[in-house]
Amino acid sequence: MQSLLPQRFAALFPHLCGLDGALPCSQVTGKMRSAIADRLQSLPLTVIGTRPIDEAIVTRGGVDIKDVSPGTMESKKTAGLYFAGEIIDVDAHTGGYNLQIAWSTGALAGKSAASAKKEGNA
Ligand SMILES: Cc1cc2nc3c(=O)[nH]c(=O)nc-3n(C[C@H](O)[C@H](O)[C@H](O)COP(=O)(O)OP(=O)(O)OC[C@H]3O[C@@H](n4cnc5c(N)ncnc54)[C@H](O)[C@@H]3O)c2cc1C
Repeated sequence: MQSLLPQRFAALFPHLCGLDGALPCSQVTGKMRSAIADRLQSLPLTVIGTRPIDEAIVTRGGVDIKDVSPGTMESKKTAGLYFAGEIIDVDAHTGGYNLQIAWSTGALAGKSAASAKKEGNA
């Protein structure tokens, strides 16, 4: 079980299936295997709280995207003000999407600000 599941979860998992974790594999019946498969495919979890903000991976909220020009990342309310990354109200699941948001919006905001400066608009 420990090679298939996170270590601490593996220790708890037999109990969640109504099984004795110390039972040798040779004594695990077909019915018990079905119970394990059922639990692996459907494990109801109840969220009871959140971890502290210090441990947060991404923040939610920030500047409303309706107030940002998507082609330049410039504020629609304040000319010459550009936004990038988590300061904008966008977030995604982990997997590189938040970093991609930061890099893409940062590159666009930087290029746009530089262009505006070059054209004398900033
Ligand atoms: C532990 C952890 C794991 C993560 N893992 C992933 C992941 O696997 N995949 C993924 O996509 N995303 C991940 N993220 C999220 C991702 O790192 C962020 O979404 C991204 O870095 C946001 O970039 P940002 O430039 O908007 O903000 P930040 O990276 O937070 O940069 C803001 C910068 O501004 C500086 N700053 C703040 N205040 C001031 C000030 N007054 N003056 C000057 N500078 C200031 C800060 O020091 C910081 O350097 C993770 C985040 C954390 C915390």
